Amino acid sequence: PAPRQRKPDWIRVKAPVGAAFDQTRSLMRRLKLATVCEEAACPNIGECWTKKHATVMILGDVCTRACAFCNVKTGMPRAVDSQEPQHVADAAAELGLEHIVITSVDRDDLPDGGASQFVKVIEALRRTTPDTTIEILTPDFRNKADAAIEAIVTARPDVYNHNLETVPRLYPTIRPGARYYASLRLLETVKKLDPTIFTKSGVMVGLGEERMEIHQVMDDMRSADIDFLTVGQYLQPTPRHAKVADFVTPATFNAYASIARAKGFLLVSASPLTRSSYHAGEDFARLKAA
Ligand code: SF4
Ligand code: SF4
Repeated sequence: PAPRQRKPDWIRVKAPVGAAFDQTRSLMRRLKLATVCEEAACPNIGECWTKKHATVMILGDVCTRACAFCNVKTGMPRAVDSQEPQHVADAAAELGLEHIVITSVDRDDLPDGGASQFVKVIEALRRTTPDTTIEILTPDFRNKADAAIEAIVTARPDVYNHNLETVPRLYPTIRPGARYYASLRLLETVKKLDPTIFTKSGVMVGLGEERMEIHQVMDDMRSADIDFLTVGQYLQPTPRHAKVADFVTPATFNAYASIARAKGFLLVSASPLTRSSYHAGEDFARLKAA
């Protein structure tokens, strides 16, 4: 196999050790919940799990797609677990979460793309931990998007997140199963259906995009009324995945952050280790308090 690419000094992560980390892990195992923290090999797992922040991945740990940047397993997923919604709510209660981020694999095999499971998870959370704010990070639901979004919006999550991941030019190689404008339209529809739901999206950089292309994506997002933006460095999970084209410097991330604020995003997180769910709770709480 090809050797791993060397990371620059500004990408430093906390080692995944400590009692709180172990407690988070054993809770997830006991409740049979998968997390994107583990499945996507997130570099922030040491920091987040020590603070008992975890992003639950519902609908199993096997995805029907195979994006070039993603470490999640591809194949034929298992049947949907009817216990999962309550288990997610139990995890939120035990971890004492003020804010929870729920994501899922893509389930192109299911008639509703998995939308009803998102709805059940939101309902279980509202019953069990009514004070926890809910952020969902959904797939694009492909040709089932209209019905899926409508069902989920009716359940009223606080934040609806869907990542554009990269610039449109790189979709054929990086996100071949998806369409840039379909993803954009999904978020625009959420906002139109319920303007009280905050919408959020993100991109990875370091995949070979030009800065101007990222600025264009920001403009596209603002035209779709997207409220929050995340920008993070792409890291190659294994040598089989897409190569890192370049390590974007912290100065460039700062420039992206100020441009994004000037374009009107309400919350912006742009740094090498920013991920969709990184500090999502803290940022959202700050916004609500402001
Ligand atoms: Fe998990 Fe998100 Fe933290 Fe990564 S940034 S460890 S995915 S909560
Ligand atoms: Fe990973 Fe999502 Fe792509 Fe599936 S659809 S491979 S979970 S990024």
